[in-house]
Amino acid sequence: MRRFFRATIRATIRATILGLAPLVLACASTAGGAPESSTAAAAAPASRALPPAESVPTLVVFITIDQMRADYFDRFASQLTGGLARLDRGGAFFTNAFQDHAITETAPGHATTLSGRFPRHTGIVINSAGVQDPQSPVIGAPSLNASPFRFRGGTLIDWIRIKDPRSRALSVSRKDRAAILPVGRAHQNVYWYDPTSGRFSTSTYYADTLPEWVRAFNARRIPQSYTGKSWSTLLASGYPEPDSQPVENQGKDFTFPHVLPADTAEAVRSLPDFPWMDEVTLQMALTGLRALDLGRGSQTDLLAVSLSTTDAVGHRYGTDSRELHDQVLRLDRSLGAFLDTLYSIRDSAKIVIALTGDHGVAPTPEVYAARTGITTRRVRTSNVIKPFTEALTARGVDPSAFRYAEGMLIVEREVLERAGFDPDSLVDAFAREVKKIPGVLRADRYPAIVRDSLADPIARRWYHQIPDDLPVALVVTLDKYSVGSGNATGIHGSPYDYDANVPVLFYGPPFIPGRYTRFARVADLAPTLAWVTATRPTEKLDGDVLWEAIRAR
Ligand SMILES: [Zn+2]
Repeated sequence: MRRFFRATIRATIRATILGLAPLVLACASTAGGAPESSTAAAAAPASRALPPAESVPTLVVFITIDQMRADYFDRFASQLTGGLARLDRGGAFFTNAFQDHAITETAPGHATTLSGRFPRHTGIVINSAGVQDPQSPVIGAPSLNASPFRFRGGTLIDWIRIKDPRSRALSVSRKDRAAILPVGRAHQNVYWYDPTSGRFSTSTYYADTLPEWVRAFNARRIPQSYTGKSWSTLLASGYPEPDSQPVENQGKDFTFPHVLPADTAEAVRSLPDFPWMDEVTLQMALTGLRALDLGRGSQTDLLAVSLSTTDAVGHRYGTDSRELHDQVLRLDRSLGAFLDTLYSIRDSAKIVIALTGDHGVAPTPEVYAARTGITTRRVRTSNVIKPFTEALTARGVDPSAFRYAEGMLIVEREVLERAGFDPDSLVDAFAREVKKIPGVLRADRYPAIVRDSLADPIARRWYHQIPDDLPVALVVTLDKYSVGSGNATGIHGSPYDYDANVPVLFYGPPFIPGRYTRFARVADLAPTLAWVTATRPTEKLDGDVLWEAIRAR
């Protein structure tokens, strides 16, 4: 036991140095007792019965904000008057909540939201192996395609439907992966924006044709109506961020106003980079809610909406920009109007709302370095694989047997051995080379990640990332505040808290409003929503019910 506490203290010190949330739950289960700490999970009431039918909501509204850092609520608090303010002030807000995995990208983050499971158990590990599926073309845009075929297991809507097969879901986003993954493999109503046409569509995984209400929504040509429109700041003043920062948007068009092209086809392609994209997405969600009559029966229906512009603006101008600031204010107003309409057409006593983010974002390296004096780098590690690829190709070996993606070195040992290579010496050579690159903090062999996952927060997040059947031999972690490949101003994808800390927020009758500061995970969302909808998950989850936020009856 003493050794456990020493390890915990060491881990906590390391976590503090690295700026990573202390681990709590893993220790608690391994050491056979919850640590005496205010951050400990509330114990599950052993005899707690599922809520009675009359208190079960008929509508769960689940909102994901792409690239939403938890600290945005406080950073912009004095100027929030709309939906974000309403949810913050009236909701149960877990501010110290995390996407507790290492590759903090959109697809793995969205797959975790309503599955209650880490990427290790959803199989959605990286964006580039997310929802792409050539067997599921997008209706009306056959050059595009998407489906959840890689997703493993079920999600909240599947469990709810096992209880009551009448339950239905509508999931809407600008992005395909953000619409698809929160409902897993469910064949429900799932629509996303096609920027080549300015229309919302789905893929043949879900339907052969678009229903009348989607065609009617598209016929209104709302995205097209923004052609030539100019984006200026919402407020006349109150933006401490300098506007003119040449580091933003790769030195092009980095000051207000930003103007959508005068050509309609170009405008609908560019709309995702403008705050109005979120408004259109929310209008689409409300139109679908009405058309499908969700939330009106005695069953529980699900409306999932993922809003993508915060991510687009964050990538383009960075988290430190005036543009990001204005985007969050406009998102707050759009969400406020959405909630007003929602509560005017459905009974607020029967609605539960949850809100989270799929990942955060790093401070813009150049801005952060100038402000703090801390060295930050843009690090390209992908070139290290080149000589290995060349050597394998020269010997007639498929180079995918030794490939590098998002910090993971994936090694098909048997393929290499058959060709006469020693996989371990190749991995060691790769590790030696990658560690020479300034900005690379560490390169860990996978067995060390497994071994250290209880005591080392970075190892824990990598462990939560990697399914057992993905043959990852080595993982590469950069220095804190250095960022990986890509030319965007804002970058995310690391195991550090600035990329992992997102809001986990519940709003509605079952929840006790307040700020909750104990460590929580996005994986806790689904089991918590399952509980308040009197639903039993039909599979093993990584998350736990956040009991302390739920009213005792
Ligand atoms: Zn994202």
